[in-house]
Amino acid sequence: LSISLENAWKKLANEDKITSDNIKEPMKEVRRALLEADVSLPVARRFVTNVQSKAIGQEVAKGVKPQQQLIKVVADELKALMGLELAPLVYSRIGPTVILLAGLQGVGKTTAAGKLALYLKKQDKKVLMVATDVYRPAAIDQLVTLGKQVDVPVFEMGTTAKPPEIARKGLAEAKRIKADVVLVDTAGRLQINKDMMNELKEIKKAVKPTEILLVVDAMTGQEAAGLVASFNQEVGITGAILTKLDGDSRGGAALSVKEVSGKPIKFTGEGEAMTALEPFYPERMAQRILGMGDVLTLVERAEEAMMTEESARIAERMMSAKFDFTDMLKQTEMIARFGSMSAFLKLMPGMNKLSNTEIREAEKNAKTMRAVIHSMTVDERAKPDLLASSPSRRRRIAKGCGKTERQVSEVIQQLFTMRARMQNLSAIMSGKTAMPGMG
Ligand code: GDP
Ligand code: MG
Repeated sequence: LSISLENAWKKLANEDKITSDNIKEPMKEVRRALLEADVSLPVARRFVTNVQSKAIGQEVAKGVKPQQQLIKVVADELKALMGLELAPLVYSRIGPTVILLAGLQGVGKTTAAGKLALYLKKQDKKVLMVATDVYRPAAIDQLVTLGKQVDVPVFEMGTTAKPPEIARKGLAEAKRIKADVVLVDTAGRLQINKDMMNELKEIKKAVKPTEILLVVDAMTGQEAAGLVASFNQEVGITGAILTKLDGDSRGGAALSVKEVSGKPIKFTGEGEAMTALEPFYPERMAQRILGMGDVLTLVERAEEAMMTEESARIAERMMSAKFDFTDMLKQTEMIARFGSMSAFLKLMPGMNKLSNTEIREAEKNAKTMRAVIHSMTVDERAKPDLLASSPSRRRRIAKGCGKTERQVSEVIQQLFTMRARMQNLSAIMSGKTAMPGMG
């Protein structure tokens, strides 16, 4: 794949304009890449048509090669298709927010309920989960067990009551205990069928959910488009949760969700653990669908050409002794935009001297880093010394972001290491220090 794709792009290399003629071959390869990532055929077709109409006739920016420009259009279009930014949960203004989880059997609804419960709890919401899968006693037990694990109560009425009634009584119970959010776990079926849809409609009527989230297994592949369409037509969804992204699927289903329903993916599930839930980042998914190894490097090159100015600004901040946690956070966002740490570092003066192991380590840490920094106060972000000297602050942060105190300390340590390295570097660059192998 990568070789043919790269060859296709290369054909554009000597053109000064993207035309309907020279775009053909590369777009054929893009379509193939999308299909390999399990994007459904009609979605892939529409995508290619869109990219073509945007790219053809575009003036090629100075210093940018036409193929870079085309890659950028492809990447941007992918991102746009999946939603340009984070789509947060919507909360109801009065009474508890009801979130209904729908989807086929085995896609991860019950697991997602537990994960969401934990996620909401961490945001200081009081949560109640409601078990309406009455077809298997094990399904209720499963939710009760998860509830215990995340310390969130579960409302259930055994297997004899009707699902809409359980949902209604669950909502009443939520009001009674003054819960902020009610998570209604429902029963899936192996395939789309009338019983399931009718049941969902009745539950919907009974509890008027603020969010109806369709849970989609990322491994579903091409069929995702049809699934999303049925659930959206029958029940009307407000968003989706894409699960099992820890598997080896390229995530093409993500593209189908947004394209078919117009509704955003709000979360991704990336493992069986209750903490394995993340807000959905469209850019990262675009990168995953395009393929991390091959197309992405091309996108990076395009970005490189277009973004040297922005990276220079960040570099300047990094060189200043003030580099704080806010800068560090910005930097990780920048890295996310570049697709990878190594692509980013290539643009940073001197930083391409980091070893691959160091880079991989830093990429792995980025998630933890973001979580930890998000749990800091504004003051702490600006004055890292506050944290270096206060175990109680570190403890509070660890609690807030669900990481260990050790992880928090590591992030703090990382900032100081970076500061030291940066200062060293700027000294070298200004000629104050000599360093072997450089200059
Ligand atoms: P439901 O039938 O839709 O309620 O699906 P479950 O929540 O019972 O999940 C079905 C199976 O998928 C269980 O074994 C889960 O542990 C597993 N599962 C759910 N979400 C994920 C995920 O994000 N990653 C992985 N690897 N497994 C998951
Ligand atoms: Mg279930």
